Amino acid sequence: MSLPEASITIIVVLALLPIIYYGTLPIRAYSYFRGKTFLDRRSKVAKLVSEYNDTAKYVVSVRRRQTFEIGETTKDTYSYPTRDECQVFRVDPPRDGALGYGMKQMVNCSRSIVDGVAHDPVKYLTKYKYSGFRADRMGLFTLSRLRDDLGVLEYATHILARDEEKILTSMGVPRYIMKHFTPTLVGKLGIVPQYCDLPYPVFVFEYRSPAGRSVDRATVTLNTALLDSLISEVSRRIQTGRSAAEERSRMTQKLRDQIKRRDDYTCQICGVSQHTSPNLLLEVDHIIPVSRGGHSVPENLQTLCWRCNRRKSNKVLTGVR
Ligand SMILES: [Zn+2]
Repeated sequence: MSLPEASITIIVVLALLPIIYYGTLPIRAYSYFRGKTFLDRRSKVAKLVSEYNDTAKYVVSVRRRQTFEIGETTKDTYSYPTRDECQVFRVDPPRDGALGYGMKQMVNCSRSIVDGVAHDPVKYLTKYKYSGFRADRMGLFTLSRLRDDLGVLEYATHILARDEEKILTSMGVPRYIMKHFTPTLVGKLGIVPQYCDLPYPVFVFEYRSPAGRSVDRATVTLNTALLDSLISEVSRRIQTGRSAAEERSRMTQKLRDQIKRRDDYTCQICGVSQHTSPNLLLEVDHIIPVSRGGHSVPENLQTLCWRCNRRKSNKVLTGVR
């Protein structure tokens, strides 16, 4: 054999190796899956597999609850997952006019809002005009349900990944099986495949310049951490709202008359009085505003003429002292 002949032989053998490797794969896999080692180990992990499948089934049922339905929407503002995506995610297509799991809501807004959202998403998500949900009791209920279900899904996903690894480790599957026959392996083990993505709803705040040349975006994912912040903000607002209503309801006519009499029908800021101007409109004002936790008690009330009262509420609104 001359040198060129020898190198040709080597090249032919090298070329044949992968053909032999891939060509015999199905046969080797066939005998592996029928072999005693596989069958013995499979019966050992059977309990783990059935636990895995139970968890997976539960995940599907939680996702089917479709708890995330907020606000009234139009098809233009919200993009819905396609029917195919619904199948992948194993969820029902959302009802018209409701947001659902895995949804993406586009919000067109100004550039400064895009910046604001990046720094303080809670501030903007609690506004109805951006998120489509109200910071009221119903909104709180929706958020809490969504948070609970996503929490379950997060945990279940973690459990599923852990169990899957445990199953495969104790099976001691050869590498070529893992590499080329994963679907067969999963089927033979009786594992019901589970898609492990988490269906966090997403809000995309977007600013487009008039000519459409520049686009700024802030993407907000409603994960459990953000939902917790939203929930505490909404509950805080509900609390404040309730006490404010209570404080206002305590402002009876009798209390108003009592305060005016105490202040001798005189504005406590400018000193104008009904004694000199009989038609003067006097109002009873909360010294510490109700919106800042002030109470409807005589110590926190004063008589003001309408001009001074209006000037004061403007200052409170703009935060100037
Ligand atoms: Zn006055």
